[in-house]
Amino acid sequence: MPGHNWAGNVRYAAARRHRPSTVTELRRLVAAGDRVRAVGTGHSFNRFGDTTGDLVSLAGLPPTVEVDRVRRTVTVAAAVRYGDLAIRLHAAGYALPTMASLPHISVAGAVATATHGSGVGIGNLATAVAALELVTADGDLLTVRRDADGDRFAGMVVALGALGVVTRVTLDLVPAFEVRQYVRLGLPRAALDEAFVSAYSVSLFTDWRGGRIGQVWRKQLADAPPPEAGWLGTTTAAGPVHPVPGMPAESCTAQLGEPGPWHERLAHFRLGFTPSSGDELQSEYHLPRAAAADALAALDPVADRIAAVLQVCELRTVAADELWLSPQYRRDSVAVHFTWTADADAVAPVLAEVEARLAPFAPRPHWGKVFTLDPAAVAAAYPRHADFLALLRTLDPAGKFRTALLDRHFPR
Ligand SMILES: Cc1cc2nc3c(=O)[nH]c(=O)nc-3n(C[C@H](O)[C@H](O)[C@H](O)COP(=O)(O)OP(=O)(O)OC[C@H]3O[C@@H](n4cnc5c(N)ncnc54)[C@H](O)[C@@H]3O)c2cc1C
Repeated sequence: MPGHNWAGNVRYAAARRHRPSTVTELRRLVAAGDRVRAVGTGHSFNRFGDTTGDLVSLAGLPPTVEVDRVRRTVTVAAAVRYGDLAIRLHAAGYALPTMASLPHISVAGAVATATHGSGVGIGNLATAVAALELVTADGDLLTVRRDADGDRFAGMVVALGALGVVTRVTLDLVPAFEVRQYVRLGLPRAALDEAFVSAYSVSLFTDWRGGRIGQVWRKQLADAPPPEAGWLGTTTAAGPVHPVPGMPAESCTAQLGEPGPWHERLAHFRLGFTPSSGDELQSEYHLPRAAAADALAALDPVADRIAAVLQVCELRTVAADELWLSPQYRRDSVAVHFTWTADADAVAPVLAEVEARLAPFAPRPHWGKVFTLDPAAVAAAYPRHADFLALLRTLDPAGKFRTALLDRHFPR
């Protein structure tokens, strides 16, 4: 386990790092620790997952994947990566409804931050969770189920690692399906909504250097008709493209309408490739979907400043859900994502400007990315914030899983 996150912008402050190979060993470790934190594959960009005490990777536990054909669920070990899980599920005839852009992330780590893909009718990855098994502060093993634990369960799924160390996750499955991915260039802003609802999963990319959206990645069910020539005023890409202009497309999932399994099209990047060197920072804000065009207009006056420190900006949609700390809690959302250059000092003032301009739209930050929003504003955007705080106090009264950033947003 490296001493830093994937991007290298967070050097973990942990005094000790562990890789237990059994749940019993993990339980002992948690029970004995004063400050404990789980780490997944380290793809988050902030310090929610950092600790001064014991940092625990579950990558040494058996990577179990157990499909239940009767319940149509899979129970998977926390550290299994979505890409590896997807291959196993597809072989068994099943699928997940959505994938993040990157398949290299762990199931528990991605669920903890409400990681998402895109689709107006598709919830984030955490919405597929039917049950969780976790080691709580005293070392006990607790299982919570959606069908038995009601509202409390909805508070425990997206939990930023703050309620315990998740060991197993049960996910709902759907039958395996095929997807075709088409990339179109130069979407007029006025056609934003039409583009979002045009296919199963749609991602838009812009570099803020012109009025138009540079690329539309349209991931459609294989039997849906392809976009016609000149669709919504776009042109057809001559060959496969990378979202960041000028980067080679070999790390990207197949485009050009070639049909393929869901997991080889819904993610943007292929499991066998490293999408980039990690030389980047990311921020993302979830806004009401209906505010998409107004939010972009609010950012227009600072487009040049954004472009100067940007690799690419991605716009996606995510369906509303009931999970307390989900950025999509009871809100059909548009996700405005920024892949910044790795220069944190240059990015900081632009980030502050972006946050100020998005403030009127009650932005909810991606919990795994860089943000500096005022904690009071973040709390106000999450109607169940106080309920989560109560859950924290009940399940972790001594603050074993607390971190400085968690304390900032969920004060004791
Ligand atoms: C290149 C790149 C592309 C990305 N694409 C997307 C995207 O398409 N959509 C999106 O929404 N996000 C995206 N992200 C963000 C990423 O999905 C999230 O940050 C996610 O949480 C990372 O998962 P991880 O396994 O690396 O978790 P980590 O970053 O290691 O941990 C994240 C959080 O989960 C907690 N955690 C980890 N494991 C456990 C466990 N076993 N029990 C309890 N808590 C645990 C940690 O304590 C921490 O708080 C991307 C990130 C990168 C670097």
